Amino acid sequence: MKPRKYTPAEESLILRMGAARAPWEEIGRRLGRTPGNVRAKFTALGGVRPRATPNYSESDDRLILEQGAAGRSFDKIAEAVGRTRGAVITRHYSLGGKPRVQRHAGGRKKSKTKIRVCLRCDRNFPSRGIFNRICPNCSEANSRVVMEIHDSVAGTV
Ligand SMILES: [Zn+2]
Repeated sequence: MKPRKYTPAEESLILRMGAARAPWEEIGRRLGRTPGNVRAKFTALGGVRPRATPNYSESDDRLILEQGAAGRSFDKIAEAVGRTRGAVITRHYSLGGKPRVQRHAGGRKKSKTKIRVCLRCDRNFPSRGIFNRICPNCSEANSRVVMEIHDSVAGTV
């Protein structure tokens, strides 16, 4: 498979995150590429990876604190300051940032949801309540099977 061309925005993200010592895995995950691929690209772009994480500038700190408190996604903030999401979250709270309701890409998390272990696949998933013990993946697979059975029964009539 031929690799997609990098967009200028992706290239600048690789340069910024790479220079901020973000793990190659994380950069790759964000861009849908392999760690080796983004690393090679970083080098090809002339990026230099410093030995230690540079200190946060005053404006970075302000941005992390203000935007974090305003409920902006930590992913976006991390991108803006060229750090990892985890680093930005740690920084936000170490600066005295208030705990906040986190918004996810798919919208606001429902208040009653709780992480439970799926009875079928043993993976953690956000459960809607004590009655909800099968993760969305498994329940989808389940309803597909039911549909198939239904179809084959209907076909024999
Ligand atoms: Zn499951």
